[in-house]
Amino acid sequence: MDNCIFCKIIKGEIPSNKIYEDKDIFSFHDIRPVAPVHFMLIPKLHIASLDNVEKKHQDLLGKIILLAPKLAKEQGCTDGFRTIINTGRVGGQEVYHLHAHIIGGTERLPVMVPNPS
Ligand code: 5GP
Ligand code: ZN
Repeated sequence: MDNCIFCKIIKGEIPSNKIYEDKDIFSFHDIRPVAPVHFMLIPKLHIASLDNVEKKHQDLLGKIILLAPKLAKEQGCTDGFRTIINTGRVGGQEVYHLHAHIIGGTERLPVMVPNPS
């Protein structure tokens, strides 16, 4: 996708702090980290969001999930971490190239979604 920030990061047209790459997956630190560890795992294939995944993407999604704990530990998350995939308007998705946030490196992350009551 020509106008996609993350496609440009994969191609090296926009610099990033890369932590992992293979033929299918790219991983890099978030530019605005919300915790001591905050990186992204993305497919090299442009898929706009989790709302757009299809059966044919199953192995790709599996690779991302399997890489998450491996890279998280390498980044210092030795006692857990959080994985977030924001999806669409309600999910607050800003960048429409599917990405999993991996967040941690702190004693305890705050509650994910505060109880409204
Ligand atoms: P979303 O809200 O779509 O789940 O998250 C998008 C994330 O991408 C945000 O956390 C934001 O900080 C990150 N981001 C946006 N632009 C860039 C960029 O150019 N480089 C990097 N490394 N992260 C970015
Ligand atoms: Zn893209």
